[in-house]
Amino acid sequence: MSVFQQPIRHFIKLSDYTYKLIKKCCNGDRVIDLLFHFPISIIKRSGDINNFKPQEKLTVVLKIINHVVPNRKGSPYKIIGQTDNGDLVTIIYFNYRIPYLKKIFLINERYTISGKAECNYDGIKIFHPDVVASPSMLKYYIGVEPIYPLVGNLTNKTILYVINSILKIIPKDFDYLSPEIKEKYQLPNFFDSLVNVHHPKGERDLMDNFIFRKRIALDELLANQIRLRQLRENIFEHILPKFEKRGVLLNKLNLPFELTEDQKKCIKEIEQDLCSGHAMNRLIQGDVGSGKTVVAFISMLIIIENGFQTAFLAPTEILAWQHFETIKKLSKSLNIDIDIMVSSNRKARKKQIQDLQNGITQILIGTHAILEENIEFMNLGLVVIDEQHRFGVMQRISLIKKCKYPNILAMSATPIPRTMVLGCYGDLDVSVIKNKPASRIPVETAVMNISKIDELVTRLKKMNTQIFWVCPVIEESEDLIDVNTRCDYLCKVFSEDNVKVLHGKMKAIEKDFIMHEFNHGKFKVLVCTTVIEVGVDIPNANVIVIEHAERFGLAQLHQLRGRVGRGNQKAYCILVYHNHISEIGKQRLQLMKSTNDGFILSEEDLKLRGAGDILGKEQSGFHSLRFSDFSNNYNLLTIAEEISQLIDIHSNSTKDLLNIFNRISEEYVV
Ligand code: ADP
Ligand code: MG
Repeated sequence: MSVFQQPIRHFIKLSDYTYKLIKKCCNGDRVIDLLFHFPISIIKRSGDINNFKPQEKLTVVLKIINHVVPNRKGSPYKIIGQTDNGDLVTIIYFNYRIPYLKKIFLINERYTISGKAECNYDGIKIFHPDVVASPSMLKYYIGVEPIYPLVGNLTNKTILYVINSILKIIPKDFDYLSPEIKEKYQLPNFFDSLVNVHHPKGERDLMDNFIFRKRIALDELLANQIRLRQLRENIFEHILPKFEKRGVLLNKLNLPFELTEDQKKCIKEIEQDLCSGHAMNRLIQGDVGSGKTVVAFISMLIIIENGFQTAFLAPTEILAWQHFETIKKLSKSLNIDIDIMVSSNRKARKKQIQDLQNGITQILIGTHAILEENIEFMNLGLVVIDEQHRFGVMQRISLIKKCKYPNILAMSATPIPRTMVLGCYGDLDVSVIKNKPASRIPVETAVMNISKIDELVTRLKKMNTQIFWVCPVIEESEDLIDVNTRCDYLCKVFSEDNVKVLHGKMKAIEKDFIMHEFNHGKFKVLVCTTVIEVGVDIPNANVIVIEHAERFGLAQLHQLRGRVGRGNQKAYCILVYHNHISEIGKQRLQLMKSTNDGFILSEEDLKLRGAGDILGKEQSGFHSLRFSDFSNNYNLLTIAEEISQLIDIHSNSTKDLLNIFNRISEEYVV
């Protein structure tokens, strides 16, 4: 095991308490976890008493000569100190406990003191110093101090100490990129990059475009690219049987609607893949509500007819249950075995695993629970991945490893350019569903200011429809409206029984219950976070209100809007903005109003917000990445792709690289 993978306790002595805090703070206790815990800001400390700048803290060694106890309540406490040159400095406290101050500042003792300072007619003052240390510590408190994200009682000093100790033990010449590649792309060394990231010299060294931070971001993208290549190798090393038997199930299938032309075309392309003798690696891109699920279902039937099992992976539990219900309904007359595996039905797991291993279960629908190691299939022949962008490449690999024959059908509602497809998913074939079912009436979108909320709810109350009401946050915050506050308000208008809350921090079982009740029309208003963003299909909900709409990306707003207008009633999307909205913000909301076409929206968003910004981390499958996303690393992605072609992906240095970036992201929680 390399130094990077080892726990820090192998190198540094810390109390259990501190160790736990650090582990929590850095998302792990491996050396690499600490090295990848980057500073977020800096404090500049100056040692020059005659010439410090207002934004800097002043650090001096002072001999304490007097305590001035205030004679009135509310007046500051003053401690007078003197430098070795004889300059007087006053230390000032507004909040204080006298015994405490008397104890830490002993008369005639010398201390290193640092804090925000001021120099005016009545001399130099230091307010509430954040450093009171022995005189020998002076040199450590002059210069630039990096400030790290912290948790609990952990201090910056501790984390600074640990990280600097670790920087001393890691090998200086370690690098998985060859000198030639670094030369070609003008990249700094791995070690130098870490050292410089942790020793910023100014604000600019905290930015993503700081060359040393860029190197780490590039490495991460590179690791991702290499995994995508490995994924592809995994898929294509197999020669597959041709899945040609056709008829038994497909002929019996009785759909409640006629397939659209695009759906038919898509199914045809999938059939061709499956009959080719090579693995399928196909992405269906279709706008929200274009009917991708039924296409996936028919593909699964082809596999089942040929005697194989299929798995259907969904990003959230709500969605998994919904697919389960839909597919059960669609396959009513077909007599196939369908099972659902999510973390909340863990109790059933033993029997479920048996049924999978014996080949009884033909369709397994589920969330990340399917990816666990002990879940094995008898003969898995097709994997469907819904809302593909929600899954990282590691997750896809773990699913494909379970396949006897790795056919992959990925689905995504986010239309993205080809380069981005390559970057996110690797090289795959794409089918597009452009047109929605003809029966659909387009959703009407309105944009309004929060000041009109009373009018809005009065009108909504008169309408006979269910309503999604989306808020940006779960907990009360200073400038954003949260689900509970909004729920209280709506309860007054609609009555308590008619308003319920749903968000990602609730237990899965609670969420399901509420979704189930909402789906069956038991209550009227669902106040929620973007937990409902992906795929949720409730035909009786015809209104969605989105608060702080200015805070959401266009792709996300479009996804949310796609939650309504799924039945045959006219539907409305109301984008509510709060007061601080920029010009571009307004333009973006107007754009939402002017079109229902997800492809146009993403193109326009691109123009308005600049390259790459169109996809947030979550939207791009890049949420498993820490240091890079499209908004600032579009060029890096191209370089990462190039480098991944130049290096041997099975070499030891590549293994080192992959080990360093080996975290699989947690289940996505809004
Ligand atoms: P998405 O592409 O967003 O995943 P879904 O597969 O959830 O969309 O489909 C949205 C709704 O459209 C579902 O209620 C589904 O039953 C319905 N639907 C799908 N295909 C058709 C069709 N050809 N005609 C009418 N309704 C359809
Ligand atoms: Mg869907």
